[in-house]
Amino acid sequence: MILEIVKYGHPVLREKGRPVTVITDEIRQLATDMLQTMYAANGVGLAAQQVGSALQLTVLDVADVKDRPSQMFMEGREQPVTDFMPLVLINPVVSDPVGEQVGPEGCLSIPDISADIRRADRITVTATNLDANRMEFACTGLLSRAIQHELDHLRGILFIDRMDPATRAGFAGQLKRMQQETLASLKKSPRRAKGASRV
Ligand code: ZN
Repeated sequence: MILEIVKYGHPVLREKGRPVTVITDEIRQLATDMLQTMYAANGVGLAAQQVGSALQLTVLDVADVKDRPSQMFMEGREQPVTDFMPLVLINPVVSDPVGEQVGPEGCLSIPDISADIRRADRITVTATNLDANRMEFACTGLLSRAIQHELDHLRGILFIDRMDPATRAGFAGQLKRMQQETLASLKKSPRRAKGASRV
């Protein structure tokens, strides 16, 4: 099922996700729906907050992006990224940031805005997958950038928070309008807004 992607101004985007303690059928369904929603929106990553659930859960797939490469390493050995897509990361933690990359970023919850964002180049990720198995890998490039973007979402942080101040100031009017539209639509359909925060 394709879910509604909540837009900038919705308070759930500023909520810190609760850890997923048990992988229930509901969580499995949510991950499946999030992947479907992400593909339908042509995104490479989607966090639970973006579909109205403040949980430590994110899905990613960079397999179809050819012009912005990614690398993935397990136990020090490089692995084909496509073998591990799509990724469902539950309670993910990032450690050991190495180097730096600056590149364009956007967000499905903040349409029509993109800017260069500075991120670590290589990171190490530990997470649980849908089979409740622990996984650990290192990654670089677009996958690393996308995971850092999604992990920010899981803590209520948005990519606009990481823009340099002058760039963000340039988007101030657009962001304000988006925020007002979102808040106005929440007032019009409070039941939907409440429903969006379930799970
Ligand atoms: Zn985003």
